[in-house]
Amino acid sequence: MKELILEMEKYAKDHNVPIMQNEGIAFLMRFIKANNIKNILEIGSAIGYSAILMASSDVDVKVTTIERDENYYMECLKNVKKCDFDKKVSVVFQDALEVNLSDENKYDMIFIDAAKGQYIKFFEKFKYFLAPNGVIVTDNLKFHGYVGKSDEIESKNLRQLVKKIENYIEFLNNNQEFTTKIYDVGDGISISVRKNGNT
Ligand code: SAH
Ligand code: MG
Repeated sequence: MKELILEMEKYAKDHNVPIMQNEGIAFLMRFIKANNIKNILEIGSAIGYSAILMASSDVDVKVTTIERDENYYMECLKNVKKCDFDKKVSVVFQDALEVNLSDENKYDMIFIDAAKGQYIKFFEKFKYFLAPNGVIVTDNLKFHGYVGKSDEIESKNLRQLVKKIENYIEFLNNNQEFTTKIYDVGDGISISVRKNGNT
C-alpha cells in the first residue's frame, strides 16, 4: 500500500497529474475518521490517489469516484486493483455533469475535485445526494496562491479560471442552505454543512 502510494505520487509528478497535496489529503483522512464518514462520492478521480487514500482512512469507508478522462480512468482502475480495493472503491467512467445517480444513494461526504470552473454546477447537482448530516468538500480554493489576486494575472485563461474559483467562494459564503469553513491546508479546502444539520 505504502509503496503504491509512493508510486502514484511519482507518476503524478512525472505526468503532471494534479493530485492532492500531502497536507490536504492527511487533513481529509483525519476528518473522515473523526466524523465517522462511511460513504464518499468523489468528483474527479484522476489516477485514484485521493480515492484510495480516503478509502483507507477506516475499514468500512467506501468511495465512489467519477472520472471523464479515459486514460486517467484506466490508470485509476489499475491502482484500485493493485491495492485490492475493488470492494472499497468503485470508479465510474463518465462526465460528472451527465451522470445519473440513483436517488437512493446518499453520501456522508461529497468531495469535489474536478474542473475548477464548474464547481458551482457540481455543488448544485450533487447536494441532492447528501445524507442528512453530510458535508460537501472542495479542493484547490487557493489555486496555488492565485485566488484573491485574479486582477493581477496576465494570462487570460488563468485569470478566468481563478475568477471562477473566487466566484465559487462567494457562492459558498452567501449560501442560504450551507455554512462553509475554508481551511488553509494544502491548496485550500472548504467544508460545507447544511444549516439545519447538526454535524
Ligand atoms: N482527486 C484527485 C485529483 C483529481 S484532478 C486526487 O487528488 O488524487 C481532476 C480530475 O477531474 C481530472 O482527472 C479530470 O479529468 C477530472 N474531471 C474534470 N472535469 C470532470 C467532469 N466534469 N467529470 C468527471 N471528471 C472530471
Ligand atoms: Mg485538487
